[in-house]
Amino acid sequence: MRHAKPSTIYLKDYRVPDYLVDNTHLHFELKPKATLVKSRLKIRRNPAAGEGLPPLFLDGVDLILLSIAIDGALLSPEHYEKMPQRILVAVDKPEFFLDIQTCINPEDNTTLEGLYLSNGMYCTQCEAEGFRRITFYPDRPDIMSKFTTTIVAPKEYPVLLSNGNEISRGPCEGDHHYVTWEDPFAKPAYLFALVAGNLQHLEDCFITASGRKVKLQLFTEEKNINKGDHALRSLKNAMRWDEAVYGREYDLDIFMIVAVDHFNMGAMENKGLNIFNSACVLASPETATDATFQRIESIVGHEYFHNWSGNRVTCRDWFQLSLKEGFTVFRDAEFSADMNSRAVKRIEDVSLLRTNQFAEDAGPMAHPVRPDSYMEISNFYTLTVYEKGAEVVRMIHTLLGPRGFRKGSDLYFERHDGCAVTCEDFVRAMEDANQVDLVQFRRWYSQAGTPQLTVTDYFDETLGTYVLTVRQSCPPTPGQREKSPFHIPLKLGLLDKNGNELVLDGQGTTQCILEVTEAEQSFEFTELSEKPLPSLLRDFSAPVKIDYPYSIDQLLFLMSNDSDIFNRWDASQRLAFLALSDLQQAYRTGGVLQLQPELIAAYRSVLLNRDLEPALVAELLQLPSEQSIAEASVHIDAEAIVAAREFALQTLAEALFSEFRAQYTALKVRKSFSLSAKDIAERKLKNTCLLYLCATETADALALAQEQFDTANNMTDKAAALSVLINHAGDKQVNAAIEQFYQCWKEDAQVVELWFGQQSRSSRRGNLSAVEKLIQHPAFDLKNPNRVRAVIGGFAKGNFSQFHRSDGSGFEFLAEQVITLDKLNPQIAAQQVIPITRWKRYTGDLARKMKIALKKIMDSGDLSGDLYEVVSKSLN
Ligand SMILES: [Zn+2]
Repeated sequence: MRHAKPSTIYLKDYRVPDYLVDNTHLHFELKPKATLVKSRLKIRRNPAAGEGLPPLFLDGVDLILLSIAIDGALLSPEHYEKMPQRILVAVDKPEFFLDIQTCINPEDNTTLEGLYLSNGMYCTQCEAEGFRRITFYPDRPDIMSKFTTTIVAPKEYPVLLSNGNEISRGPCEGDHHYVTWEDPFAKPAYLFALVAGNLQHLEDCFITASGRKVKLQLFTEEKNINKGDHALRSLKNAMRWDEAVYGREYDLDIFMIVAVDHFNMGAMENKGLNIFNSACVLASPETATDATFQRIESIVGHEYFHNWSGNRVTCRDWFQLSLKEGFTVFRDAEFSADMNSRAVKRIEDVSLLRTNQFAEDAGPMAHPVRPDSYMEISNFYTLTVYEKGAEVVRMIHTLLGPRGFRKGSDLYFERHDGCAVTCEDFVRAMEDANQVDLVQFRRWYSQAGTPQLTVTDYFDETLGTYVLTVRQSCPPTPGQREKSPFHIPLKLGLLDKNGNELVLDGQGTTQCILEVTEAEQSFEFTELSEKPLPSLLRDFSAPVKIDYPYSIDQLLFLMSNDSDIFNRWDASQRLAFLALSDLQQAYRTGGVLQLQPELIAAYRSVLLNRDLEPALVAELLQLPSEQSIAEASVHIDAEAIVAAREFALQTLAEALFSEFRAQYTALKVRKSFSLSAKDIAERKLKNTCLLYLCATETADALALAQEQFDTANNMTDKAAALSVLINHAGDKQVNAAIEQFYQCWKEDAQVVELWFGQQSRSSRRGNLSAVEKLIQHPAFDLKNPNRVRAVIGGFAKGNFSQFHRSDGSGFEFLAEQVITLDKLNPQIAAQQVIPITRWKRYTGDLARKMKIALKKIMDSGDLSGDLYEVVSKSLN
């Protein structure tokens, strides 16, 4: 059993730090099991913290303390108190130098926080609280200090990197050498980074708007050096974009990116030295799918944009995490939208939000964008903080318009440059720059849950007046029973019976933003000659669920006539949800499963419509995922969801076989590979057709998949073919494809991860036994988060049908894996357990079996704080 419950930290308890650290000098002597870390901190009493000289708190986890000295005088143990995960030092002067020596063990550090070894390369991850695993330090983001770092290592590690600019290097005793780095910008410890290894690099340069030359370097192992061009190109695009859209220039002479195989997150924005999970930076057409290329562009942009939104202006405390993440996700989403198809990017982001963030809002870990409390901050790197946080920033952008938003962001950067601030400071800058009142809007930061809008309408024929009535509510979430109304920008247009946009005012405007601020509110449109059809929540202008009693005919009409591309797609989703809901009902009551002919006809006309962009056609043809159907259900009946979706897919595939076949053949023309938006869209549409064709499991269709698998000249097509074969072909054909693929790519870590993921996500009956075999595969490694995410995450989060098998075997498997994983890497263990924590929403036996699996974890012994927080909250 566990000994001590981790304590809860509250936002309301925030106090300014007692002491400030003006300078931090670090000296590392790298050794795998015994790295010596010497730190010299220039410390002074914080004038804002009051009178007297209280003791100095220093955080420290898994450190061996060798010595501690103030102004050169060694402290004996009575001058400091050792407590769990910190020391308390007695202080008798307002300014002093603190020298500390510690010893750490990077080789055995499987948490991947602090300093660790990954494939023989030293690297760090300090956000949120990893720096305290390197040395004793006041490890909180509102302590901003100027860092100088010296790294001493054997010459077999030729590359020694840290933040800022290199200021000296040279040989040391024996076969060692050193490099010293100086970062001229004060920063919190979470942005510290160190890398040492035998690495190669690609180099490029960027000339800033004011004419400064910045050296760009991308470091990786030699075998991957041909996979860095796309990231460097993306980096330059991001640098240019941030100058054009936000007026933000880069500020150091060098910007470095390093690829690392073992990494808990996607990437980290350390000042001047971004560290990336290899999977989020390395790509070549032979090894990476189009989705990976686009993901890399977006993550490279995201980390780069943090240089201003995160590094120059950082968070006062971790409750404010969305200050940097919400804003930066919004920035990277706009960057990707400008680089690619804006409509498709929006559709993808909203799908993610609705499927996974709404589930978070409805689950036991629901929290506001700015949480009030946490046990382990690493559990709050959530879709709510990131994606919903970005939606909140997007709503401000919508309310103020692009120019008003830019005025607000300029003021924010000007006012707070070099400071650690709060979400409140961000909103106030937006208000002050635009003279607007966002008092009620702030509830988006403090209230959890997904608001629900119910819209009804009324048309007075004699007056020509159309009235829309909007009611809003928000379900209770843990610790918040009652919610006050939100300030919601509701973007809409009105369509006449011919599909034309109606003019909403004297100026010819056909689209407006209603500001919904009350629990119930009516909006009137006058001088209309007929009852219009409303196109509501265009562009998904707020992260809410919206209900309007659309008929099937109205949805079909919007799907083909709405000028808002997002809402055309949304109408197709609503239609599919209605059909899937009917199918589930029929399945549960033993009725006959049937798909309405209108729906089949709508899919046919999308497929045959040559005026639509291929990217949009591919999106319109996607049936909602099982996970998103689950999220939209009040009570989740997994078996009925799987049966309904399977039936719909089969029926469409059979009814439209010849249309899918014709479209597939038209797009299959072999041509040289390019990453143009048009080619990406065509591959997506082609592979969507292949998926439908193979759902029929006919020999003809499977032969097409095999041919594509054998002859593809890029990983997008190859992986798509492998996926449909794994799901639909016979055992012999599947095994041959799996083996052939592995033999071809076993030396490439990213492709092996893709290969693992496709197998664990396969919906073949009894897939759990295949997943259990994958865990035993020599290439699987529980210490490598990417492998864990591919196999265990692929199964629990990406394989709805097999994970939710009625015997509960999927949950038992997950519980066992999570228990083992927790001993190695608590952060990853806590992330993987999430699917069973939402047990309360499932019907019948599944809920009971998920709960049993959770209890098994709880009773398994000494859990990490990370896992304890998630499991205990879900059992409440
Ligand atoms: Zn970020």
